[in-house]
Amino acid sequence: MTLKSGYPFWLVKDGLPFTYPKLDHDIETEVAILGAGISGALARYYLVEAGIECTTIDARTIGLGSTSASTSLLQYEIDVPLHRLTQMIGRDKAETAYKLCGRAIEELGKITKHVGIEYFEKKKSLYYAAYKKDVAWLKEEFEARKAAGFDVTWLEAEDVQKEYGFKSYGAIRSELAAQTNAYMLSHCLLQHKHKNNRIFDRSPVTDIKHHKDGVTLTTDTGYTIKAKKLVYAVGYEVVDFIDKDIVKLLSTYATISEQYNERNFWKDELLIWNTADPYLYLRTTADKRVLVGGRDEDFSVDWKRDKLLKKKTKQLTTDVNKLFPELDFKPEFSWTGTFGSTKDGLPYIGEYPGKPNGYFSLGFGGNGITFSQIGAEIIRDMILGKENENAHLFRFDR
Ligand SMILES: Cc1cc2nc3c(=O)[nH]c(=O)nc-3n(C[C@H](O)[C@H](O)[C@H](O)COP(=O)(O)OP(=O)(O)OC[C@H]3O[C@@H](n4cnc5c(N)ncnc54)[C@H](O)[C@@H]3O)c2cc1C
Repeated sequence: MTLKSGYPFWLVKDGLPFTYPKLDHDIETEVAILGAGISGALARYYLVEAGIECTTIDARTIGLGSTSASTSLLQYEIDVPLHRLTQMIGRDKAETAYKLCGRAIEELGKITKHVGIEYFEKKKSLYYAAYKKDVAWLKEEFEARKAAGFDVTWLEAEDVQKEYGFKSYGAIRSELAAQTNAYMLSHCLLQHKHKNNRIFDRSPVTDIKHHKDGVTLTTDTGYTIKAKKLVYAVGYEVVDFIDKDIVKLLSTYATISEQYNERNFWKDELLIWNTADPYLYLRTTADKRVLVGGRDEDFSVDWKRDKLLKKKTKQLTTDVNKLFPELDFKPEFSWTGTFGSTKDGLPYIGEYPGKPNGYFSLGFGGNGITFSQIGAEIIRDMILGKENENAHLFRFDR
């Protein structure tokens, strides 16, 4: 599967900050982690912190899966609005899922501090009604979030215009949000306590055998990793490992502006997204750029997806310039990637039938990164044999 194409900004900007060897010998390890994107990097962080020895292996150069394409907004707001999720799974579970995402933002902030890296900026977020018809349900959503204890404010269309300078039909402002650079965050997490050199890339795993005492992975060149436990942090390519139809694969697009000379962006440079389907979203970067994403397509066939990149860049440029004409947005780098959505907007985390000693961390959806944090904690607990009271929300058989 080609997970992305074009020029993902972080990849261009940060290049290859750290490099890793291929696996060229057999290894025995406590926990093998398959996949070194943000899900695998966070899983490793939590396990290493718990004193567990891990070996990470990836088919690609580290980070070059979906993680390098991520626009890296950190939101507690799942793709399925809270009031709709409540109708689907009940209030307690829906609120817990939202709160876990909120907590994930805080946790990611703490982790970046602990690891001593700068790739985390707290932000507010603004979720605006793109159409008049959306105002009624957006207000319902506001009430649901308020009742769940989130720090939210309802803004009328005039307030949005006055404070943020663009036309909408009303908006929810949330105090809790952040932004990161998932690519660099993954790289830095992998470097944390990276003493035993047990990280390998460009080593596709082509065979996995689960036994009652452990798991054996074999690479395309015939080397094996024997592990007591295996974490599957394989992103959208999980469709190669399981037969359950859990994710609908789509295509999404992003483009980033040239660097501006002055930081004359909207107030607070909060994260902006809207109620359109597919939704449009915007953020800024530390080096004075505006990043816009959206214009998703309902398919994931790579050549079809890639053919549209030029057109989507134009559309996203028009979208920003319509919202903020004074920005005169000029795209510099554009990219596209595979994206996944689930029936309830929630990730799949935990064990899968017939794969003893295997644990999946699949953070599908617009909140992939916060889901990766939730997955990492749940899997650490499962491997340590500790009960995790939230694990049931994300089970495959939910
Ligand atoms: C354009 C775009 C914008 C996005 N924006 C956001 C956003 O703003 N906020 C947000 O939270 N999320 C966002 N996402 C989603 C987020 O980026 C993903 O959820 C996240 O990066 C997934 O990370 P991962 O580690 O699970 O997967 P990946 O980064 O894809 O890593 C999985 C790794 O597993 C490896 N692998 C798979 N199979 C094998 C095998 N057989 N052998 C060895 N290795 C294997 C792959 O090579 C890959 O490197 C966005 C996604 C895209 C495409």
